[in-house]
Amino acid sequence: MGWSMKVGDSPETHPPPARCCVQGRGSLADRLRRLIETQGPIPVADYMALANAHYYATRDPLGGGGDFVTAPEISQVFGELIGLALADLWVRAGRPAGIRYVELGPGRGTLAADALRAMRAAGLEPRVHFVETSPVLRAAQAARVPYADWHDDLAALPADGPVLAVANEFFDALPVRQLVATPTGWRERLVTLEGGRFTPAAGPRVPSAAIPESVRSAPPGTVLEASPASLAWVRRLAERLNRHGGAALVVDYGHDRLSAGETLQAVRRHGYADPWSEPGEADLTAHVDFESLARAACGAGALVHGPVGQGDWLVKLGIDARIEALSRSAPRRRDEQFAARDRLVRAEAMGSLFRVMGLSARGWPAPEGFE
Ligand code: SAH
Repeated sequence: MGWSMKVGDSPETHPPPARCCVQGRGSLADRLRRLIETQGPIPVADYMALANAHYYATRDPLGGGGDFVTAPEISQVFGELIGLALADLWVRAGRPAGIRYVELGPGRGTLAADALRAMRAAGLEPRVHFVETSPVLRAAQAARVPYADWHDDLAALPADGPVLAVANEFFDALPVRQLVATPTGWRERLVTLEGGRFTPAAGPRVPSAAIPESVRSAPPGTVLEASPASLAWVRRLAERLNRHGGAALVVDYGHDRLSAGETLQAVRRHGYADPWSEPGEADLTAHVDFESLARAACGAGALVHGPVGQGDWLVKLGIDARIEALSRSAPRRRDEQFAARDRLVRAEAMGSLFRVMGLSARGWPAPEGFE
């Protein structure tokens, strides 16, 4: 099939223009250096997109031996409760046929395996679709859920059937733009080179009408982040719900209200690293702006629930009873089970910084845990 078959795809799914220019020899850092030397500074969002595409394509970053640990890797209960919440929705929606489980950025497939096991126990056996670009992680996912179908983008999903979608720590890895307040107005932040090192610097002016009023008069030096890529993903998700029914759960760390401040960070071997050194060798993430995501989802016709803290949400879904049951069946692992529970739930651990937002199609029941 020729490439022209793809012409109808939504434009946000196409790689940023810089991507084709960084192919070639040497490390990603070397290629980015050459790109900036020959073509000039690049937007922060392009830097982040290129760094993370390389990072995820070349490793499995999860777990003790990797760079970071996510909720499903901490306890099986996380995925199980998500599976039960989705199965409950499906039952309350009247058990529609042809349902699809869709996960964005499924990592090692751990969450999906736990959720699908819980769904099966509740009588739900959906078709499984993973939206994942990393070949290394696709292989890890195939080891846990061999019967899944893989896609590069939501647009490639079969165009029928309601979906139950999940995205855990997916949106934080999507590129953000950075805008910086200067004495001469807001400017786009670009990545440039100083003595061979990547450095952020103020670039072209941004019209102040483009800056939300609540932060427009912030003092020079203030950084504002925005993620057009995230908005495009959530819009596509909401449009899918709108057209074919279903619901989605988005779990990530971030804030409920749009606010200024730089949150772009690099994580490597379970510690913070410099986001401007060795692009593609550390995980670059930014806080998820749930206010803008919710607005984009509403605008595309979905109903929004929450966001609420991950801790409260898990407690409402019954994490304590589930941990108690697991501890009874394996008493020697009791301390480990409760430690995992505390890590997911307590406010000083992941319970409050991590937020859960539900989306549902009109005419579908509301997901549990948000009232
Ligand atoms: N959800 C998993 C993994 C989180 S890490 C967990 O909770 O453990 C981020 C995941 O998103 C990885 O699977 C990564 O390969 C995937 N990812 C990042 N950017 C992506 C993109 N633009 N398109 C598709 N998948 C992407």
